This record gives sequence, C-alpha cells and structure tokens, in this order.
Amino acid sequence: MRTIKTDILIFGSGIAGLWLLNRLRAAGYSVLLLEQDRLGGLETLNANGIIHGGLKFGLSAMLRDVEDLDDMPALWRSCLSGTGDLDLSDVRVLAEHQYIWSEASLAARANTYFASRLMSGRVDPVDGVDRPAVLQNATFKGRVYRLSDLVIDMPSLVQALTARHRDCIYKVGGQNLHMEIDDRHNTTAVFITGAAMEPLRIHPNHVVLAGGQGNAGLLEDIGLREPAMAKRTVHMVMLKRPNLPSFYAHCIGPRRTPRLTITTHPTRDGEKIWYVGGEVAEEGAGLDERMQIEKVQRELKALLPWVDLRGARYKSFKINRVLPADDRRLLRTDNAFVQRIGNNILTWPCKLTLAPNLGRQVLNHLENAGIKPEHEQPSEPLPLLFPEIGQPIWETLFT
Ligand SMILES: Cc1cc2nc3c(=O)[nH]c(=O)nc-3n(C[C@H](O)[C@H](O)[C@H](O)COP(=O)(O)OP(=O)(O)OC[C@H]3O[C@@H](n4cnc5c(N)ncnc54)[C@H](O)[C@@H]3O)c2cc1C
Repeated sequence: MRTIKTDILIFGSGIAGLWLLNRLRAAGYSVLLLEQDRLGGLETLNANGIIHGGLKFGLSAMLRDVEDLDDMPALWRSCLSGTGDLDLSDVRVLAEHQYIWSEASLAARANTYFASRLMSGRVDPVDGVDRPAVLQNATFKGRVYRLSDLVIDMPSLVQALTARHRDCIYKVGGQNLHMEIDDRHNTTAVFITGAAMEPLRIHPNHVVLAGGQGNAGLLEDIGLREPAMAKRTVHMVMLKRPNLPSFYAHCIGPRRTPRLTITTHPTRDGEKIWYVGGEVAEEGAGLDERMQIEKVQRELKALLPWVDLRGARYKSFKINRVLPADDRRLLRTDNAFVQRIGNNILTWPCKLTLAPNLGRQVLNHLENAGIKPEHEQPSEPLPLLFPEIGQPIWETLFT
C-alpha cells in the first residue's frame, strides 16, 4: 500500500475547497483535494456570482445592517486585479456593479431608506444614461441605485482557482474511501481503494471539510452529527432568448430579500440567459416548474413591462442553500463558518462573497495553533483521475 503524508487534505471543490487550496498552497502547506463529483461545486457553479457589500435589501433591513460584509467587494477587487490574497486576474467580471431599482409606488420610501447610506458611498442614485439600459425606458418611473457589488463569471473563477493545481486535485467517490478516526474525532488516515489501483493511505496532519451539503455526511464519518446544517431550497428560473439585454439588478420590495434578483450569464453557444432569484425563488420552493415559471413571468411583466421577452424559453431549477443551522447565523451570515474539531476544520462559506473571510479564518486558526508546513507535495501523481469540470445548470437545461 502506498502511503502519502500531507499537511492538509481538503474534501470538496466548491468555492470553499478551491479558495482554501489556493491560500494554503501559497502559504507553503502541502495540500491534496478530493472531489466526489464534478469540479467546481454544486452551489458555487450555480450561484448568481454577486460579490455583495454590506448592504441588506428591503426596507425592513433598516433594522439590521451587515457591516462586516463591507470589506468583501474591495478584497475581491484586489484579487481580480492580481494584487490581493489570490491572483484572480484571469477571472471574467460580468458586471462592475449590481443595481437596485424600486417601483414608482415604493420610490419615496426607498429614497428615505437609501438616504442614510448615500454618505457611506456604498450606494449611488443614478439617472438617465447612467442607468442600466433595461431601466432607461421612458415609462419607468421608479428609482435606480448603483451598488459597489460586482458580478463574476463562475466557470472562469473555477478555472482560475484550479489552473495551477491540477497536480493535487483528484476525483474519489465515497464508496472508494474510508476514513480512520480516533476517539477524539481526529482523522488519522484516509484509505482509497479502486478496482485497478494499488490502495492508497493518506496521513493528513489536518483535514478541511468543504463539502457544502456533503459536510453532513463527512461529519458522520468522523462520528459527529453537530454542528447541524440547514438547507433552504430556492427555485431559480432561467430564461433564454437571442439578443437578451445584459441586466444585473435587484428589485427592492418591502421585505428582507429583494423581490427579484436578475443576473445575466453567457452560455457556451454564444447567447445569454437571465438567472432570476430573490424572494420569488424563496417563495417558489414548493411550486412545480410550470407554476414557478408562470409566477416569474407575471413578476417580469409587472416590473419590467416594456422589456420584450416574446419568444424566450424558460426553465426552472431547485437547489439548496446550505448554512449552519444556528438560528443566530441564519439571520446574520456576515462571516464564513469555520470550526475546528480535532484535526478537522469544518467550513461553510455561507456566501460566495465570504470566501476571502473563510481563507483568512482558516489561516488564522493554523497560525494561532502553531501549525506550520511540514510535508512536501507528493513527487509522483496519485493513481487517481482529475475530475471533470462542472458547468452551470443552464448549460444542460437549454440543450
Ligand atoms: C442559486 C444560488 C445563488 C447564489 N448566489 C450567490 C451570490 O450571488 N453571491 C454569493 O455570495 N453567494 C451566492 N450563493 C451562495 C454560494 O453559492 C454558496 O455559499 C457557496 O457557493 C457554497 O460553496 P461550498 O464550497 O460550500 O459548496 P458547493 O459549491 O456546493 O461545493 C461543495 C463540493 O463538495 C463536494 N463534496 C461533497 N461531499 C463530498 C465528499 N464527501 N467528498 C468529496 N467531495 C464532496 C460536492 O460534490 C461539491 O463539489 C448562491 C447560492 C445559490 C444556491
């Protein structure tokens, strides 16, 4: 049996696993990453890609601001310009700004709401040609605000985070993997077997659980049921039509979540889709595809009646958002979740946006515990395959 020693073993190749892979290798640790399915994660590749600032939406958010998120767009921007924690200069930025628009009936209240934030420079009112093209129609009487939030292309992010690490990312299905745990929940070894391969034994100094909703199973493997995980189903709608205008905006409503969130994404056939979430996606979790599409069509007609969407094709898709099941955190996801359990580090980023915070927390944990790089990267590749690179759901639904 071949035995490998590594400083860190990561499970999962969503944003949590890939961000940490890059940060930990840059800090000199030897790292192996195991993915059970396709590369790029489930939530990650199907995210809207908005890098949120600290602003919460909805007039009710006046009660509860999320200041800690404030730093995130700037941290991402420094990575995107190649000067930050990571070099993401190859990542495609889809939009430099996400906008907020309000209906005419809410405009006055929205004005009051945003007035308190204009001073901080996070929100700018915009008029005329400064508005997104979709909101320049003469019949539109609402307000428009520009946020510091940017929108990034998820496949290009996954590409950038994996390009330099093909030598340490491997696909391993759960049936081929066995974890050896001691009575303090330390992962002492991970065994990998396969039909045509010599069995492998990996001795990790530390293990990162970055499996998104797969973390529940990984926790069970180390003999634990807690910290528990919460799943919130959202029912997203996609629409595709030739010459769809690019649009990145939240429609503000009276609630905590935007009434509608729209982002635009390029598809491999050279067209674009609108990806529609927000309150309509949260409330539509129990609806079937036909009902959910009809609901979104009604919303689009009510909120953007001048946009010609004739001939558009619609698809819907249900997906879970995964968060730690701590009530307080369900309300305030302003930090990534990181917890050490023996030599395991459990992570839930809670938002794509919080990846830099996740990276810093994990590195701080290691530094505070005096854990230094010890082993070299394996000199020979492991007898395992590199996983197939995943794609956002719309690439398969519209074919
Ligand atoms: C529809 C939607 C839109 C969103 N939009 C935004 C947004 O605009 N901005 C934002 O900040 N956040 C957004 N989010 C949230 C964000 O996408 C998630 O918080 C983040 O992507 C979660 O990343 P992750 O790495 O934890 O999980 P995932 O991306 O789900 O990746 C987990 C990976 O681990 C693998 N895995 C699981 N178990 C194992 C195992 N035992 N062994 C090996 N591998 C395993 C899985 O196969 C998967 O590849 C959105 C979420 C959803 C659902």
